[in-house]
Amino acid sequence: MRVRLTKTFHFEAAHDLPTFPPGHKCRRLHGHSFRFDVVVEGEVEEAKGYLIDYGDIKQATDPIVHELDHYYLNEIEGLSNPTSEILARWLWLRLKPRLPQLSQITVYETCTSACEYRGE
Ligand SMILES: [Zn+2]
Repeated sequence: MRVRLTKTFHFEAAHDLPTFPPGHKCRRLHGHSFRFDVVVEGEVEEAKGYLIDYGDIKQATDPIVHELDHYYLNEIEGLSNPTSEILARWLWLRLKPRLPQLSQITVYETCTSACEYRGE
């Protein structure tokens, strides 16, 4: 049996997006209540009946959340242009070594806007 599990994380942060056109609202310093989903995928061993402990996903991800929460994202190494797309890849690169079954990161900049990244 092959499954995908999702665990959701939240953080608050400020950013501005320097590659947007002059005058665009995203060029101004502003903040978001970011949400992101960590998706892992794999085969479930029948005898175990589960893929991975959700607590293990939290343990791998929490230190990364602490690097982002209540920070100005543009000042974090690798996030000088912190679009949802680049943030999703940044999260992937940080998390994949700790969570080999990682199959997708989804970053929600707002309730209605999301970016999915699968390591490609
Ligand atoms: Zn924004």
